[in-house]
Amino acid sequence: MTALLEVRGLSAHYGVIHALQGVDLDVGGEQVVALFGRNGVGKTTLVSAVMGMLRPTSGSVRFDGRELAGAPPHVIARAGIGLVPQGRRVFAALTVEENLGIAARAAAGDRAWTRERVYDLLPRLADRRRNRGHQLSGGEQQMLAIGRALLGNPRLLLLDEPSDGLAPRIVDDIVEVLAELRAEGIPALLVEQNLGMALRLADVVAIMTKGQIVYRATAAEFRADPETARTLLGVA
Ligand code: ATP
Repeated sequence: MTALLEVRGLSAHYGVIHALQGVDLDVGGEQVVALFGRNGVGKTTLVSAVMGMLRPTSGSVRFDGRELAGAPPHVIARAGIGLVPQGRRVFAALTVEENLGIAARAAAGDRAWTRERVYDLLPRLADRRRNRGHQLSGGEQQMLAIGRALLGNPRLLLLDEPSDGLAPRIVDDIVEVLAELRAEGIPALLVEQNLGMALRLADVVAIMTKGQIVYRATAAEFRADPETARTLLGVA
């Protein structure tokens, strides 16, 4: 079976730093793939290279059979990959409504996701629609980043540390939303430092060390193997 997203031999550099050193990764089906790794191993770089924000130096990024390595971000977004970036990156001076409006305009073609549908999924955003980005809590900003990605009608979501800096109660809300999206059949690559959070969603676990994926297993296999978590991630 070919996966929706197939990354093969992906390499990327920052000047002389070889940040991705031949990454192989599949995401597809209705799966959530959790990507773990210590700080600085290249997780965000992988997300950037898949999204076209960093040009890979070699390798392949196939999405639904189409080669996208080296394509610019807007082409990759229109092909159906939605990004919820690290640090949320909402427009601080614009309202929720305006942030979503920009995302809706940027998306092309027939659309299943509308602002109203985003507000149905994320009612907190509907309450805050006239508030500006800088007036939102971290959790609300995260919801906005998710809503913005959905307006691009993604067939796959890349989420870079969505739980970062959020209180446990808010993390629960994020997990609930992501579980709903999975139930709708949107697979996801979930980069997380919060293993507990990610394992509530993940079907598959992949681990990066120094620019490569060195481990892939079902979430159940990963849970049953604490030695791997200890050795590769340094968690007890
Ligand atoms: P974290 O969990 O801390 O977000 P990460 O696994 O996402 O870490 P990356 O941010 O992808 O790791 O970084 C991978 C390597 O590339 C690190 O050595 C980092 O210092 C380096 N790096 C990342 N971004 C840049 C950049 N813009 N310029 C130069 N080097 C960079």
